[in-house]
Amino acid sequence: MWRAAVRALRGRGTGTGAPRAASGAAAAQLRQRLESELEDIRGAGTWKSERVITSRQGPHLRLAGGGAGACGRRRGGRPFHRCHAPACLPLFLPAGIINFCANNYLGLSSHPEVIRAAVEALEKFGAGLSSVRFICGTQSIHKDLEEKIARFHQREDAILYASCFDANAGIFEALLTPEDAVLSDELNHASIIDGIRLCKANKYRYKHMDMQDLEAKLKEAQKHRLRLVATDGAFSMDGDIAPLREICQLAQKYNALVFIDECHATGFLGPNGRGTDELLGVMDKVTIINSTLGKALGGAAGGYTTGPKPLIDLLRQRSRPYLFSNSLPPAVVGCASKALDLLMESNAIAQSMAAKTQRFRSKMTVAGFTISGKDHPICPVMLGDARLASVMAEDMLNRGIYVIGFSYPVVPKGKARIRVQISAVHSDEDIDRCVEAFTEVGRKHGALP
Ligand code: PLP
Repeated sequence: MWRAAVRALRGRGTGTGAPRAASGAAAAQLRQRLESELEDIRGAGTWKSERVITSRQGPHLRLAGGGAGACGRRRGGRPFHRCHAPACLPLFLPAGIINFCANNYLGLSSHPEVIRAAVEALEKFGAGLSSVRFICGTQSIHKDLEEKIARFHQREDAILYASCFDANAGIFEALLTPEDAVLSDELNHASIIDGIRLCKANKYRYKHMDMQDLEAKLKEAQKHRLRLVATDGAFSMDGDIAPLREICQLAQKYNALVFIDECHATGFLGPNGRGTDELLGVMDKVTIINSTLGKALGGAAGGYTTGPKPLIDLLRQRSRPYLFSNSLPPAVVGCASKALDLLMESNAIAQSMAAKTQRFRSKMTVAGFTISGKDHPICPVMLGDARLASVMAEDMLNRGIYVIGFSYPVVPKGKARIRVQISAVHSDEDIDRCVEAFTEVGRKHGALP
């Protein structure tokens, strides 16, 4: 029957027409306003371009070439193929690119067993649930994955979300009331900041990893019923790791709970890849963990909260992104579940990533670069000047090395950098090629003597 419906739609030419612009004065006014806003973004040099990958995610990529400039500029009505605006990176690229800018820390995004698990889940459980969890969107694989996540982190229970952004958006409002307080590191991820905005608790922002400031804020917050300290476990712009031991000591002293976002730690930090709490020996002191399935754990999508059972039970009742959004698709659940199996069997992949991180960090330091953070696969090559970071990243891509430059407002003024992310599936040769390219490009642009 559905075939007939598809034929009927095809017959009507559905989906083949040119886009229709909405008419009317309000639509025209909106278009004008949006175009002017977009031009402002371009003018400010903060346009984020998206390169199109034509292969699987992995250490070696193929990128689409040709077409309009990444910023979408046109010249004489035609795509502008050689746009040199800072927003646009070169479009005439070498065929094979070595990728150093994915969060694919363990290389599981294209792991054959992960892909097979996804295909099996897709075939057995279908494309999706067409439902939220509490109506008719909970399958046995969702429950199995939640149980596995809780076991992996050695916590009582876990709850899945469509993303960690959702997990962060859903936790603070469900947990904290105007009687409570939340104390948040100023450099926490945008999703934590947004999640905190949504809750009615009293808000304190402490200086990045500054324990004196956190203590002062904890003293001030003693008047509230409950205090929750919220921090990223590892910070994605600097590759630095939160001082969790000190945070937990202060939390104990001032009767506070600790929440960590482990997106850049789960699967690879700590002796068994459990995360920052394992690395720093405070697994029994951190109360709540939010993390993602979209980075080291297979890279598909999804997020979760793990912690005390009553908290997870409450989130199932009250957390809005959980209650009002579709269940994770079975294939995505299959990927994450297999990734966790692989990690629980052996920590060899995480160790291989750590060795490669060490190789990159030490060779770059010997070459004369300053790499921020310590031991983390996020390796920010500090350059200071925004233009230097941008032209160097562009030149690296010309040499087949895909890295991204970050400058203000993403990072503070004067702290522009190129962020390199190491994966377990980079070969030693890949790492060495990257260091060689940095050295050549750094000399060419005056970043190295
Ligand atoms: N928290 C941190 C620290 C992140 O880096 C990210 C993703 O960039 C998120 C949360 C959101 O994760 P997800 O992609 O699962 O929504």
